[in-house]
Amino acid sequence: MLKLINVSKYYRTDTSVTQALRRINLELSMGEFVVVTGESGSGKSTLLNVLSGLDTYEEGEMLVAGEETAHFSTEEWEHHRSQYIGFVFQHFNIIDSYTVYQNVLTALIIQGYDETARRERALELIRRVGLEPQRNQKASTLSGGQKQRVSIARALAKESPIIVADEPTGNLDKKTSESIVNLLHDVSKDKLVIVVSHSAEAFAHCATRRIRLFDGEIVENTVIKKPTHDIKATAEPTYRMGFKELTLMAARNLWSMPKRLLLMLLVSTLIVLGMAVVYGTSLTADAIGFGGTNPQFSNPNAHRLILARWDDEAFTSDDMDRFATRRRVQNVLAFDPVLDITLHQQDTQTYPVTFHPADAAGLRQSDLESGNLPQSPDEVVIASQGRFSGHRLGDTITINLGTPEQRWLNEPRTDNAPFMPEITVTVVGFVESFSYPALMYVTDEFLATAYHQYPAIAPNVETAFTVNESTYQGQALQYRLDDTLTDTEVRLPTDVATTMAQMLDMDEADLVGHTLVLGMQDAFVETTALSLTIVGVNEENNVVALTDATFNTLFVPRSKQITLTVYDALDAERLMSSFGEDIHVMYPADYVPPWAAAATLIERILNVVLLGGFMVVLYFITYLTLKNIMQARTKDYVIFRSIGASKRSLYRITVLELAMVFFLASVVVFAFFILNRYSLRWMNDFLRFYRLANYITLIIMLVALATLSGIRFNRRLFKDSVITALRAE
Ligand code: ADP
Ligand code: MG
Repeated sequence: MLKLINVSKYYRTDTSVTQALRRINLELSMGEFVVVTGESGSGKSTLLNVLSGLDTYEEGEMLVAGEETAHFSTEEWEHHRSQYIGFVFQHFNIIDSYTVYQNVLTALIIQGYDETARRERALELIRRVGLEPQRNQKASTLSGGQKQRVSIARALAKESPIIVADEPTGNLDKKTSESIVNLLHDVSKDKLVIVVSHSAEAFAHCATRRIRLFDGEIVENTVIKKPTHDIKATAEPTYRMGFKELTLMAARNLWSMPKRLLLMLLVSTLIVLGMAVVYGTSLTADAIGFGGTNPQFSNPNAHRLILARWDDEAFTSDDMDRFATRRRVQNVLAFDPVLDITLHQQDTQTYPVTFHPADAAGLRQSDLESGNLPQSPDEVVIASQGRFSGHRLGDTITINLGTPEQRWLNEPRTDNAPFMPEITVTVVGFVESFSYPALMYVTDEFLATAYHQYPAIAPNVETAFTVNESTYQGQALQYRLDDTLTDTEVRLPTDVATTMAQMLDMDEADLVGHTLVLGMQDAFVETTALSLTIVGVNEENNVVALTDATFNTLFVPRSKQITLTVYDALDAERLMSSFGEDIHVMYPADYVPPWAAAATLIERILNVVLLGGFMVVLYFITYLTLKNIMQARTKDYVIFRSIGASKRSLYRITVLELAMVFFLASVVVFAFFILNRYSLRWMNDFLRFYRLANYITLIIMLVALATLSGIRFNRRLFKDSVITALRAE
């Protein structure tokens, strides 16, 4: 079974070389019970270790079942240990944190027994070594004799053809020793048993061969009894632990050391937290992108999601009702262009003085720095760098509506009230915001009022004045209501009257009495041409005077472009993909101008680099903090190796352990986030940007972290041969 030809073994240290075995020649067969004796230091342990593949040899050749081993690879030695050898150590080498049952079971799992078989076999062996009552006791609480029995049960459990025991009774009292000897004798039938002992007498009754070593040489090799019959030993092919077994082992390793588990959880929770926040922040930065640079919409506030129909028709009120009931839609504004008007503050003591309107329906109370959401059209929330502006809660401010380029009635008012009066509003809340221009959150009532005046305040609305088939296009006009007129009468602005008179080749005064056809040209306003009588010319440029009814007949805003008010970019993004082909969706806040595309790309790359850098830092932190915790397992790992676990399996178990801890930590972190998302707003802020793909990416990053750390731990573990590693522990 085992044949050694001129086997020599050297131990080299920096300063000296010890030859522990000198040209050993030996042939052992199945059915033998070999007792090896010799003085301390004579090489007994070395011989056993070499036989069992725990240690290597330098010279000669060892044959196992006829197979040469001199050129064995790591895997082949693993196979040898796993399939041929049951090792009983002098110092037991059992897993202290496991129970008796788990210790025995582990050997069987490594061996590849199926679930029911290994359970039965483990119990049977525990019974056989007389540890039934201590079955579920932790190994650390056992006496020396009991530990040795566990060690024997474990060695026997494997059904390996060779049992090797290195001074199994060395640490035991006489009575316990006797029972261990009997136990070994009991199991020796059909196997090759090799026992090292300095008291050969103890084994006198069962030994079939006696070997004595002196200074690494065999000085006695006496066959007491020939094996009675020829027994064949065949090894099974190497079994690889399946995912289920690996997971089971990893879970058991974690669970068997609760304090270590807690510590690992703590560390990994902090790591997952750091990772989740950094990753979430980069997602947020990505999602918000460049704001305020949209060429088509001067107001790219994040609550504004714009819909239009590709066929250029207006939305019906039914359409809008349907949109209003959709998830993530906070409100529907029937007339989106109104959001592009600007609100100018009259008194300029405070900053900012120009605002864009935003629908307060897109705001949550929890977004407010202070104050409340607006309840009526004369209440507003200001979104700016609130505490740096001069505004205070309860301040009243007077605003005009108009575009930044266009002054709206800056001149002194006459008794003829301006068509769009100044509005006085009260500041009821603040939102911290860096958007420019600042936002003024108003109620949808405010916006509804404003959009009915839209033609009067929008710079892009053109009005056609036609007299005698000659047309003048007026732009950015202002309209004044004049109750002294009738519904069919109009007064022209001075500049319009002058130009028209020139066009018609007549005096300005002669225009009076003529019929004027007034028409509107704008994509969002219905064109209704009206015939009116010119009754006079205003003293001001740009100001058309007519009645309220006439204005309303002329200028009917159409819902061709509507706003869905959303909470933020994330909701907008998710809504955007949910509309049919016939609807054109625009989200001005997410517009990336061509010049910024490169910048965005650079920003993305920078984000990835930053994230990568953070990962590297995190990896070292993970490794350094977990190193000490993992070291608590080093000895156990060496033991697993010594009883035949493959390097590959142990690599996987380490990685699985870390992956499980990281998974648990992720659950803890995300549960914490979700439970606290309303009380700790910053969490919700970045948490909202996680989508399934992002969660998967995060998990992949964490698993990569766990794997890299695991591989590094293992590299340390597998640096040495099994026996050197064991000795080091
Ligand atoms: P025994 O078990 O008979 O007491 P060992 O096999 O342990 O003897 O040791 C044989 C010789 O090899 C001794 O001189 C011992 O000092 C030496 N030796 C054993 N292991 C090592 C080692 N890892 N490094 C250096 N020398 C060793
Ligand atoms: Mg020894």
